[in-house]
Amino acid sequence: MNTPSKLAYVPFVSVENMMKLVHRVGLRTVMSEIAAFIEDDFKRWEAFDKTPRVASHSDVGVIELMPTSDGEMYGFKYVNGHPANMARGLQTVTAFGLLAEVASGYPVLLSEMTILTALRTAAMSALAARYLAPAGARVMAVIGNGAQSEFQCHAFAELCGIETVRLFDIDPAATAKAVENLAGSGLQVISCATPEAAIEGAQIITTCTADKQCATILTDNMVGPGVHINAVGGDCPGKTELHRDILLRSDIFVEYPEQTRVEGEIQQLSGDHPVTELWEVMRGVKRGRSGAAQITLFDSVGFAIEDFSALRYVHQKARETGLFRDLDMIADPDDPRDLFGMLMRAK
Ligand code: NAD
Repeated sequence: MNTPSKLAYVPFVSVENMMKLVHRVGLRTVMSEIAAFIEDDFKRWEAFDKTPRVASHSDVGVIELMPTSDGEMYGFKYVNGHPANMARGLQTVTAFGLLAEVASGYPVLLSEMTILTALRTAAMSALAARYLAPAGARVMAVIGNGAQSEFQCHAFAELCGIETVRLFDIDPAATAKAVENLAGSGLQVISCATPEAAIEGAQIITTCTADKQCATILTDNMVGPGVHINAVGGDCPGKTELHRDILLRSDIFVEYPEQTRVEGEIQQLSGDHPVTELWEVMRGVKRGRSGAAQITLFDSVGFAIEDFSALRYVHQKARETGLFRDLDMIADPDDPRDLFGMLMRAK
């Protein structure tokens, strides 16, 4: 069991410990508990410093920093998005993050966030769907069966009662992997040959593809009345998944409009197109789904507060389980002004 001895040692949750933590607590429990942390934080929206993430774009991808603070704690995530990585045997999205106490500025947690991002993205999607999906939705189509997809399936099963998932990917190997990974999940898993087949009978459509372009994963005629769309993969300027006409027929819900208007599906619309902020729906100030025929769209891009919530959760769980190790990351001279002396004595 690891107990941090002093503030200068930073508890570090490695990939190995994150995996142990998920298995110790249970995958679905972790996602449902992260969703509860996100919901709590979204309900106290005004407490947070908010800024669109800071993105550094290249021809092949993006590297982003996502900071926020609630005045007591400060958190940030480093995350990349490189759709061509997969062909090189690398992941599209990798991440790590840090939580610090505002009072001293000292970090209190450094954590892997590649797995944690998949957990929190799925938790956020399912949480949004609880407010937006049609009542009694049991079937979800999942288009794009890469790294995020199984997490999405489990989160929707746990938080929304989804019983059947209909999978499609342009690469059949991705679908085969997801089918295998979801065996024994309790979900009915149906592998589909086309996106049109995947959406048949689905009340929820999740798109989580990766392509560095404005793609048309869903065309207008594929989306019938009453459907909820969980659009996860359009999250960068010039990287979208839905035909513009779908947006014009949908009520659109976003995390943080200042960021989503640049990165989300709504970059295809004018800057004043009406959208609803999810924190207002969670707070009960605005309505989520208001009718059976309404098309609801969660234009997910991923916002810093979700990562803050996820880090807050891991900070608590790491202390409870001891699944971390201390990193000697902060210099700690006996006399705080004698940094130089400490260095020289180490010779
Ligand atoms: P991934 O590369 O592991 O998987 C993407 C899958 O999409 C691949 O299997 C690929 O074959 C498939 N695909 C590409 N074009 C397609 C098409 N036209 N039709 C069907 N399938 C297609 O990526 P991932 O880690 O699963 O991430 C998926 C997307 O989600 C990425 O775009 C990523 O940037 C985004 N993402 C968003 C958030 C968020 O908070 N909104 C968080 C994490 C990742």
